[in-house]
Amino acid sequence: MTAHPLFDISGRTALVTGSSRGIGLALARGLAEAGCTVVLNGRDKDRLAEAAAGLPGGRVHTAAFDVTDGSSVADGIADVEERVGPLDILVNNAGMQLRAPLLEFTDSDWHRILDTNLTSAFLVGREAARRMTERGHGKIINICSLQSEVARPGIAPYAATKGALKMLTKGMCADWGPSGVQVNGLGPGYIETELTRPLVEDEEFSAWVRRRTPAGRWGRTQDLVGGVLFLASPAADFVSGQVLYVDGGMTSVL
Ligand code: NDP
Repeated sequence: MTAHPLFDISGRTALVTGSSRGIGLALARGLAEAGCTVVLNGRDKDRLAEAAAGLPGGRVHTAAFDVTDGSSVADGIADVEERVGPLDILVNNAGMQLRAPLLEFTDSDWHRILDTNLTSAFLVGREAARRMTERGHGKIINICSLQSEVARPGIAPYAATKGALKMLTKGMCADWGPSGVQVNGLGPGYIETELTRPLVEDEEFSAWVRRRTPAGRWGRTQDLVGGVLFLASPAADFVSGQVLYVDGGMTSVL
């Protein structure tokens, strides 16, 4: 049996920011397996080369640039389009976590997390959308979080960035939708990666996640691939400004 043509994204070109490991790398692998040419991004060239070597097919490229720096982003996107070709799909995935009580949170950490989780999506999204809107098509997927909806003690700045990213998604949809660019969010629940390692290793917290999640387990990076493939596909051509939560049901229950 073949896949429905609405889900066919083979031949498209996709950039996934922050894809040297974790969720970004799993999403890049999924897009490559679906027949896309993929561009991996992160700050460390060696780590990117290692990640690219593990992906299938000969259509994997790397682009090392810091997504928080406007001029690096502008040069990075121009270079990707010149070397690889026009971008059809952008996944704004790069992000970070800093856990500390709000009263102890420093000014510099506040700016660092805001730059990495929110400003990056604006900078990379704007550069990509300049080109996508001109061509009249494109898909942008912003990796939000269950913390776009709910906060927890010790991660208020992270929740603030992810809540704002949800609204940036809707704003991008409003601005760029008329030019044929759909912008959506994907909101992961608790997923086992380097970012959540301290939580996974905390047995009490880890058990709380399992109890609190209707699916009864932590998420795996692979759990997020289907949602991104859908949002990147023609099946989602009339879906824009939405956040699809892939969280085992956690944001839906008390
Ligand atoms: P990881 O820490 O495992 O990976 C983060 C990735 O982002 C790395 O590839 C890192 O590469 C890259 N990165 C960080 N800063 C920059 C930067 N300034 N420029 C370019 N690349 C950068 O995190 P996850 O895979 O867990 O998370 C990915 C996304 O998913 C994040 O946005 C996160 O907030 C979100 N998320 C994660 C959840 C989870 O449970 N894990 C839950 C909900 C959302 P390098 O350091 O080499 O530059």
